[in-house]
Amino acid sequence: MRYRSNRVSSIPPYTFLEMKKHKEKLIEQGVDIIDLGMGDPDLPTHPHVVEKLMEELQDSNNLKYPNPIGCIEYRKAVAHFYKKQYDVDLNPETEVIALIGSKEGTANLIPALIDPGETVLIPDPAYPVYEMATILANGRCYKMPLEEENNYEPEISSIPDHVIKEAKLMFLNYPNNPTTACVDVDFFQRVCNFAKKNELIIANDSAYNMVSYGEYKPPSILQANGAMEVAVEFGTLSKTFNMTGFRIGYMVGNAEVIKSLSILKGNIDTGQFTPIQKAAAYALQGDYHCIEEYNGIYQSRLNAVVEALKSIGVVDIEVPKAAYFVWARVPKGYTSAEFAQFVLEKTGVIITPGTAFGENGEGYFRIAVSVDSHRIQEAVTRIKNKLFL
Ligand SMILES: *Cc1c(COP(=O)(O)O)cnc(C)c1O
Repeated sequence: MRYRSNRVSSIPPYTFLEMKKHKEKLIEQGVDIIDLGMGDPDLPTHPHVVEKLMEELQDSNNLKYPNPIGCIEYRKAVAHFYKKQYDVDLNPETEVIALIGSKEGTANLIPALIDPGETVLIPDPAYPVYEMATILANGRCYKMPLEEENNYEPEISSIPDHVIKEAKLMFLNYPNNPTTACVDVDFFQRVCNFAKKNELIIANDSAYNMVSYGEYKPPSILQANGAMEVAVEFGTLSKTFNMTGFRIGYMVGNAEVIKSLSILKGNIDTGQFTPIQKAAAYALQGDYHCIEEYNGIYQSRLNAVVEALKSIGVVDIEVPKAAYFVWARVPKGYTSAEFAQFVLEKTGVIITPGTAFGENGEGYFRIAVSVDSHRIQEAVTRIKNKLFL
Protein backbone atom coordinates (compact mmCIF):
# COMPACT_ATOMS: atom_id res chain seq x y z
CA MET A 1 0.00 0.00 0.00
CA ARG A 2 1.10 3.53 -0.66
CA TYR A 3 -0.13 6.01 1.92
CA ARG A 4 1.49 9.15 0.58
CA SER A 5 1.73 11.01 -2.71
CA ASN A 6 5.17 11.89 -4.03
CA ARG A 7 4.18 15.49 -3.54
CA VAL A 8 3.60 15.09 0.20
CA SER A 9 6.68 12.89 0.54
CA SER A 10 8.79 15.66 -0.98
CA ILE A 11 7.92 18.07 1.84
CA PRO A 12 10.69 18.28 4.44
CA PRO A 13 9.56 18.15 8.07
CA TYR A 14 8.32 21.50 9.37
CA THR A 15 11.41 22.76 11.24
CA PHE A 16 9.37 24.22 14.05
CA LEU A 17 7.66 20.88 14.73
CA GLU A 18 11.07 19.21 15.00
CA MET A 19 12.18 21.90 17.42
CA LYS A 20 9.02 21.42 19.47
CA LYS A 21 9.75 17.69 19.88
CA HIS A 22 13.32 18.44 20.96
CA LYS A 23 12.05 20.99 23.46
CA GLU A 24 9.56 18.53 24.99
CA LYS A 25 12.34 16.00 25.47
CA LEU A 26 14.54 18.53 27.30
CA ILE A 27 11.65 19.59 29.54
CA GLU A 28 11.08 15.93 30.43
CA GLN A 29 14.74 15.80 31.49
CA GLY A 30 14.09 18.69 33.83
CA VAL A 31 15.78 21.48 31.85
CA ASP A 32 14.21 24.91 32.45
CA ILE A 33 13.66 25.91 28.83
CA ILE A 34 12.92 29.45 27.64
CA ASP A 35 11.56 29.22 24.12
CA LEU A 36 12.45 32.27 22.05
CA GLY A 37 12.03 30.26 18.87
CA MET A 38 8.35 30.45 18.02
CA GLY A 39 6.67 33.58 16.73
CA ASP A 40 3.46 33.09 18.70
CA PRO A 41 3.20 36.01 21.12
CA ASP A 42 2.34 35.42 24.77
CA LEU A 43 0.19 38.54 25.24
CA PRO A 44 -3.54 37.78 25.43
CA THR A 45 -6.17 38.76 22.88
CA HIS A 46 -7.67 42.10 23.92
CA PRO A 47 -10.72 41.45 26.17
CA HIS A 48 -13.06 43.67 24.13
CA VAL A 49 -12.51 41.38 21.11
CA VAL A 50 -13.20 38.23 23.12
CA GLU A 51 -16.38 39.79 24.53
CA LYS A 52 -17.53 40.69 21.04
CA LEU A 53 -16.97 37.08 19.93
CA MET A 54 -19.10 35.80 22.82
CA GLU A 55 -21.86 38.23 21.94
CA GLU A 56 -21.85 37.22 18.27
CA LEU A 57 -22.05 33.56 19.29
CA GLN A 58 -25.50 34.25 20.80
CA ASP A 59 -26.97 35.22 17.42
CA SER A 60 -28.20 32.07 15.69
CA ASN A 61 -27.91 33.70 12.25
CA ASN A 62 -24.16 33.72 12.79
CA LEU A 63 -24.03 29.97 13.30
CA LYS A 64 -24.95 28.99 9.74
CA TYR A 65 -22.58 28.38 6.86
CA PRO A 66 -20.52 31.53 6.46
CA ASN A 67 -20.17 33.55 3.27
CA PRO A 68 -17.09 31.89 1.70
CA ILE A 69 -15.41 35.18 0.81
CA GLY A 70 -16.20 36.68 4.21
CA CYS A 71 -19.21 38.50 5.64
CA ILE A 72 -19.65 42.02 4.35
CA GLU A 73 -19.07 43.51 7.82
CA TYR A 74 -15.58 41.99 7.89
CA ARG A 75 -14.69 42.98 4.32
CA LYS A 76 -15.86 46.54 5.02
CA ALA A 77 -13.76 46.63 8.18
CA VAL A 78 -10.66 45.60 6.22
CA ALA A 79 -11.38 48.32 3.64
CA HIS A 80 -11.82 50.79 6.50
CA PHE A 81 -8.44 49.76 7.90
CA TYR A 82 -6.73 50.35 4.52
CA LYS A 83 -8.30 53.79 4.22
CA LYS A 84 -7.38 54.79 7.75
CA GLN A 85 -3.88 53.31 7.79
CA TYR A 86 -2.69 53.86 4.19
CA ASP A 87 -5.27 56.12 2.52
CA VAL A 88 -5.92 53.29 0.04
CA ASP A 89 -9.48 52.87 -1.29
CA LEU A 90 -10.69 49.29 -1.59
CA ASN A 91 -14.02 48.02 -2.85
CA PRO A 92 -15.13 45.57 -0.13
CA GLU A 93 -17.25 43.67 -2.68
CA THR A 94 -14.42 42.80 -5.08
CA GLU A 95 -11.06 43.78 -3.61
CA VAL A 96 -11.15 42.08 -0.20
CA ILE A 97 -11.41 38.39 0.69
CA ALA A 98 -11.47 36.86 4.20
CA LEU A 99 -9.00 34.06 4.91
CA ILE A 100 -8.73 31.33 7.55
CA GLY A 101 -5.45 32.94 8.60
CA SER A 102 -3.04 34.30 6.04
CA LYS A 103 -1.19 30.96 5.96
CA GLU A 104 -4.27 29.36 4.41
CA GLY A 105 -4.61 32.15 1.86
CA THR A 106 -0.94 32.07 0.95
CA ALA A 107 -1.03 28.31 0.41
CA ASN A 108 -4.22 28.43 -1.67
CA LEU A 109 -3.17 31.42 -3.77
CA ILE A 110 -0.42 29.43 -5.45
CA PRO A 111 -2.60 26.76 -7.11
CA ALA A 112 -5.14 29.50 -7.88
CA LEU A 113 -2.54 31.33 -9.98
CA ILE A 114 0.00 28.86 -11.32
CA ASP A 115 -0.08 25.64 -13.33
CA PRO A 116 2.29 22.73 -12.72
CA GLY A 117 5.83 23.57 -13.84
CA GLU A 118 5.38 27.33 -13.60
CA THR A 119 7.73 29.32 -11.42
CA VAL A 120 7.15 31.18 -8.18
CA LEU A 121 9.78 33.71 -7.08
CA ILE A 122 10.40 33.29 -3.36
CA PRO A 123 12.71 35.19 -1.02
CA ASP A 124 15.39 33.28 0.90
CA PRO A 125 15.35 33.39 3.92
CA ALA A 126 11.55 33.38 4.24
CA TYR A 127 8.49 32.08 6.04
CA PRO A 128 8.49 28.41 4.89
CA VAL A 129 4.91 28.30 3.58
CA TYR A 130 5.64 30.00 0.23
CA GLU A 131 8.03 27.23 -0.77
CA MET A 132 6.02 24.31 0.62
CA ALA A 133 2.81 25.45 -1.04
CA THR A 134 4.66 25.82 -4.35
CA ILE A 135 5.95 22.27 -4.04
CA LEU A 136 2.40 21.05 -3.28
CA ALA A 137 1.12 22.81 -6.40
CA ASN A 138 3.85 21.12 -8.50
CA GLY A 139 5.32 24.52 -9.18
CA ARG A 140 8.98 25.46 -9.32
CA CYS A 141 10.63 27.68 -6.75
CA TYR A 142 13.18 30.25 -7.73
CA LYS A 143 14.89 31.57 -4.61
CA MET A 144 15.71 35.26 -4.51
CA PRO A 145 18.54 35.68 -1.99
CA LEU A 146 17.99 38.45 0.56
CA GLU A 147 21.34 39.94 1.50
CA GLU A 148 22.10 42.17 4.45
CA GLU A 149 24.06 44.63 2.27
CA ASN A 150 20.93 45.15 0.10
CA ASN A 151 18.70 45.76 3.13
CA TYR A 152 17.33 42.26 2.52
CA GLU A 153 15.60 43.39 -0.68
CA PRO A 154 15.70 40.90 -3.58
CA GLU A 155 17.95 41.99 -6.42
CA ILE A 156 15.44 41.84 -9.22
CA SER A 157 17.92 42.72 -11.95
CA SER A 158 19.86 39.54 -11.22
CA ILE A 159 16.95 37.17 -11.92
CA PRO A 160 17.73 35.42 -15.25
CA ASP A 161 15.44 36.27 -18.21
CA HIS A 162 14.31 32.69 -18.73
CA VAL A 163 13.21 32.50 -15.08
CA ILE A 164 11.27 35.73 -15.38
CA LYS A 165 9.53 34.36 -18.49
CA GLU A 166 8.32 31.28 -16.62
CA ALA A 167 7.42 33.13 -13.43
CA LYS A 168 3.81 33.90 -12.66
CA LEU A 169 4.03 35.04 -9.07
CA MET A 170 6.50 36.71 -6.71
CA PHE A 171 6.24 36.66 -2.93
CA LEU A 172 7.50 39.53 -0.82
CA ASN A 173 7.22 39.91 2.94
CA TYR A 174 7.69 43.35 4.49
CA PRO A 175 8.08 44.07 7.33
CA ASN A 176 10.16 40.91 6.92
CA ASN A 177 10.18 37.73 8.93
CA PRO A 178 12.86 36.64 9.86
CA THR A 179 15.20 39.56 9.02
CA THR A 180 12.92 42.39 10.31
CA ALA A 181 13.88 44.45 7.22
CA CYS A 182 11.45 47.19 6.21
CA VAL A 183 11.05 48.83 2.80
CA ASP A 184 9.58 52.11 1.58
CA VAL A 185 6.91 52.77 -1.05
CA ASP A 186 9.65 53.44 -3.65
CA PHE A 187 10.76 49.82 -3.40
CA PHE A 188 7.18 48.61 -3.84
CA GLN A 189 6.84 50.96 -6.82
CA ARG A 190 9.91 49.48 -8.53
CA VAL A 191 8.65 45.96 -7.97
CA CYS A 192 5.17 46.81 -9.28
CA ASN A 193 6.69 48.37 -12.42
CA PHE A 194 8.75 45.23 -12.92
CA ALA A 195 5.67 43.04 -12.44
CA LYS A 196 3.66 44.99 -14.98
CA LYS A 197 6.44 44.84 -17.54
CA ASN A 198 6.92 41.11 -17.07
CA GLU A 199 3.28 40.13 -16.49
CA LEU A 200 3.55 38.62 -13.08
CA ILE A 201 1.61 39.00 -9.86
CA ILE A 202 3.22 40.30 -6.67
CA ALA A 203 1.95 39.09 -3.31
CA ASN A 204 3.20 40.98 -0.28
CA ASP A 205 2.77 39.24 3.06
CA SER A 206 2.27 42.05 5.56
CA ALA A 207 1.78 39.95 8.71
CA TYR A 208 3.72 42.54 10.78
CA ASN A 209 2.11 45.65 9.26
CA MET A 210 1.08 47.03 12.66
CA VAL A 211 3.87 45.64 14.84
CA SER A 212 6.18 48.64 14.59
CA TYR A 213 8.07 50.96 16.91
CA GLY A 214 8.48 54.66 17.48
CA GLU A 215 7.32 56.86 14.62
CA TYR A 216 7.81 54.18 12.01
CA LYS A 217 4.69 53.11 10.08
CA PRO A 218 5.24 50.31 7.53
CA PRO A 219 3.76 51.12 4.09
CA SER A 220 1.40 48.94 2.03
CA ILE A 221 2.32 47.73 -1.46
CA LEU A 222 -1.08 49.08 -2.54
CA GLN A 223 0.24 52.61 -2.01
CA ALA A 224 2.38 52.21 -5.15
CA ASN A 225 0.90 53.63 -8.36
CA GLY A 226 -0.76 50.97 -10.48
CA ALA A 227 -0.41 48.39 -7.71
CA MET A 228 -4.05 47.32 -8.06
CA GLU A 229 -3.22 45.95 -11.53
CA VAL A 230 -0.48 43.59 -10.38
CA ALA A 231 -0.44 43.24 -6.60
CA VAL A 232 -2.22 41.64 -3.70
CA GLU A 233 -1.38 41.95 -0.03
CA PHE A 234 -1.95 39.48 2.80
CA GLY A 235 -2.74 40.63 6.30
CA THR A 236 -3.74 38.91 9.49
CA LEU A 237 -5.25 39.64 12.87
CA SER A 238 -2.86 37.06 14.35
CA LYS A 239 0.06 39.36 15.11
CA THR A 240 -1.62 42.77 15.16
CA PHE A 241 -4.37 41.83 17.60
CA ASN A 242 -2.81 38.75 19.22
CA MET A 243 -5.43 36.49 17.68
CA THR A 244 -3.26 33.65 16.35
CA GLY A 245 -5.73 30.96 17.42
CA PHE A 246 -8.75 32.66 15.83
CA ARG A 247 -7.43 31.95 12.32
CA ILE A 248 -8.57 35.11 10.61
CA GLY A 249 -6.76 37.07 7.92
CA TYR A 250 -7.42 38.70 4.57
CA MET A 251 -6.09 39.28 1.09
CA VAL A 252 -6.68 42.61 -0.63
CA GLY A 253 -5.80 44.11 -4.01
CA ASN A 254 -6.29 43.01 -7.61
CA ALA A 255 -9.92 41.92 -8.14
CA GLU A 256 -9.10 39.20 -10.70
CA VAL A 257 -6.64 37.53 -8.33
CA ILE A 258 -9.21 37.73 -5.54
CA LYS A 259 -11.83 36.19 -7.83
CA SER A 260 -9.46 33.35 -8.68
CA LEU A 261 -8.69 32.61 -5.02
CA SER A 262 -12.40 32.77 -4.17
CA ILE A 263 -13.24 30.15 -6.85
CA LEU A 264 -10.59 27.83 -5.47
CA LYS A 265 -11.55 28.39 -1.83
CA GLY A 266 -15.24 28.00 -2.67
CA ASN A 267 -14.45 24.41 -3.59
CA ILE A 268 -12.27 23.66 -0.58
CA ASP A 269 -13.48 25.43 2.53
CA THR A 270 -16.57 27.47 3.20
CA GLY A 271 -14.91 30.37 4.95
CA GLN A 272 -14.20 31.25 8.56
CA PHE A 273 -16.90 31.03 11.28
CA THR A 274 -18.98 34.23 11.15
CA PRO A 275 -18.66 35.18 14.87
CA ILE A 276 -14.87 35.14 14.46
CA GLN A 277 -15.13 37.37 11.40
CA LYS A 278 -17.40 39.78 13.27
CA ALA A 279 -15.08 39.92 16.28
CA ALA A 280 -12.20 40.63 13.89
CA ALA A 281 -14.22 43.37 12.15
CA TYR A 282 -14.83 44.91 15.56
CA ALA A 283 -11.09 44.88 16.33
CA LEU A 284 -10.21 46.49 12.99
CA GLN A 285 -12.78 49.23 13.48
CA GLY A 286 -11.87 50.03 17.06
CA ASP A 287 -9.15 52.37 18.17
CA TYR A 288 -5.61 51.06 17.96
CA HIS A 289 -4.37 52.09 21.43
CA CYS A 290 -4.34 48.45 22.45
CA ILE A 291 -1.87 47.73 19.64
CA GLU A 292 0.41 50.56 20.76
CA GLU A 293 0.39 49.24 24.30
CA TYR A 294 1.53 45.78 23.18
CA ASN A 295 4.10 47.23 20.79
CA GLY A 296 5.58 49.14 23.72
CA ILE A 297 5.99 45.85 25.58
CA TYR A 298 7.69 44.17 22.60
CA GLN A 299 9.97 47.15 22.16
CA SER A 300 11.24 47.06 25.74
CA ARG A 301 11.85 43.31 25.47
CA LEU A 302 13.73 43.84 22.19
CA ASN A 303 15.83 46.53 23.85
CA ALA A 304 16.75 44.14 26.66
CA VAL A 305 17.71 41.32 24.29
CA VAL A 306 19.75 43.58 21.99
CA GLU A 307 21.55 45.08 24.97
CA ALA A 308 22.40 41.60 26.33
CA LEU A 309 23.70 40.39 22.97
CA LYS A 310 25.83 43.49 22.55
CA SER A 311 27.26 43.03 26.03
CA ILE A 312 28.55 39.56 25.13
CA GLY A 313 30.06 40.78 21.88
CA VAL A 314 27.43 40.08 19.19
CA VAL A 315 28.01 43.03 16.90
CA ASP A 316 26.05 45.00 14.30
CA ILE A 317 22.61 44.63 15.82
CA GLU A 318 19.90 47.17 16.33
CA VAL A 319 16.40 47.14 17.72
CA PRO A 320 14.21 46.57 14.63
CA LYS A 321 11.71 49.12 13.29
CA ALA A 322 9.03 46.42 13.04
CA ALA A 323 8.21 42.78 13.92
CA TYR A 324 9.15 41.20 17.25
CA PHE A 325 12.42 39.54 16.34
CA VAL A 326 16.09 40.13 16.69
CA TRP A 327 17.98 38.90 13.61
CA ALA A 328 21.72 38.79 14.05
CA ARG A 329 24.91 37.20 12.78
CA VAL A 330 26.20 34.15 14.63
CA PRO A 331 29.65 34.68 16.15
CA LYS A 332 32.71 33.59 14.18
CA GLY A 333 33.44 29.88 14.25
CA TYR A 334 29.84 28.65 14.38
CA THR A 335 27.25 27.63 11.81
CA SER A 336 23.69 28.73 12.58
CA ALA A 337 22.73 25.26 13.78
CA GLU A 338 25.87 24.93 15.93
CA PHE A 339 25.28 28.29 17.55
CA ALA A 340 21.62 27.52 18.32
CA GLN A 341 22.72 24.23 19.88
CA PHE A 342 25.48 25.98 21.87
CA VAL A 343 23.05 28.57 23.25
CA LEU A 344 20.55 25.86 24.18
CA GLU A 345 23.15 23.78 26.01
CA LYS A 346 24.66 26.70 27.90
CA THR A 347 21.51 28.62 28.78
CA GLY A 348 18.38 26.54 28.10
CA VAL A 349 17.25 29.28 25.72
CA ILE A 350 15.85 28.19 22.37
CA ILE A 351 16.74 30.43 19.44
CA THR A 352 16.04 29.72 15.77
CA PRO A 353 18.95 29.06 13.40
CA GLY A 354 18.66 31.23 10.28
CA THR A 355 18.67 28.10 8.13
CA ALA A 356 15.16 27.26 9.37
CA PHE A 357 14.08 29.92 6.88
CA GLY A 358 16.22 28.80 3.94
CA GLU A 359 19.82 28.21 2.93
CA ASN A 360 20.53 31.90 2.76
CA GLY A 361 19.76 32.22 6.46
CA GLU A 362 23.09 30.47 7.18
CA GLY A 363 25.26 32.63 9.39
CA TYR A 364 22.33 34.19 11.25
CA PHE A 365 19.96 33.44 14.11
CA ARG A 366 16.54 34.76 15.12
CA ILE A 367 15.23 35.50 18.59
CA ALA A 368 11.50 36.08 19.08
CA VAL A 369 10.42 38.07 22.15
CA SER A 370 7.27 36.02 22.50
CA VAL A 371 7.43 34.96 26.17
CA ASP A 372 6.47 37.10 29.16
CA SER A 373 8.77 39.89 30.26
CA HIS A 374 10.04 38.05 33.38
CA ARG A 375 11.16 35.13 31.27
CA ILE A 376 12.77 37.50 28.77
CA GLN A 377 14.68 39.01 31.70
CA GLU A 378 15.71 35.53 32.84
CA ALA A 379 16.90 34.69 29.31
CA VAL A 380 18.83 37.95 29.17
CA THR A 381 20.50 37.20 32.53
CA ARG A 382 21.49 33.72 31.39
CA ILE A 383 22.89 35.06 28.11
CA LYS A 384 24.96 37.63 29.98
CA ASN A 385 26.22 35.20 32.65
CA LYS A 386 26.58 31.93 30.83
CA LEU A 387 27.47 32.68 27.23
CA PHE A 388 31.12 33.34 26.69
CA LEU A 389 31.99 33.83 23.05
C1 LIG B 1 2.91 34.54 11.48
C2 LIG B 1 3.08 34.72 10.04
C3 LIG B 1 2.05 34.39 9.14
C4 LIG B 1 0.83 33.57 9.59
O1 LIG B 1 -0.25 34.29 9.84
P1 LIG B 1 -1.64 33.59 10.12
O2 LIG B 1 -2.61 34.62 9.70
O3 LIG B 1 -1.69 33.28 11.57
O4 LIG B 1 -1.76 32.35 9.27
C5 LIG B 1 2.21 34.67 7.81
N1 LIG B 1 3.34 35.23 7.36
C6 LIG B 1 4.36 35.54 8.17
C7 LIG B 1 5.58 36.14 7.60
C8 LIG B 1 4.26 35.28 9.53
O5 LIG B 1 5.30 35.54 10.33
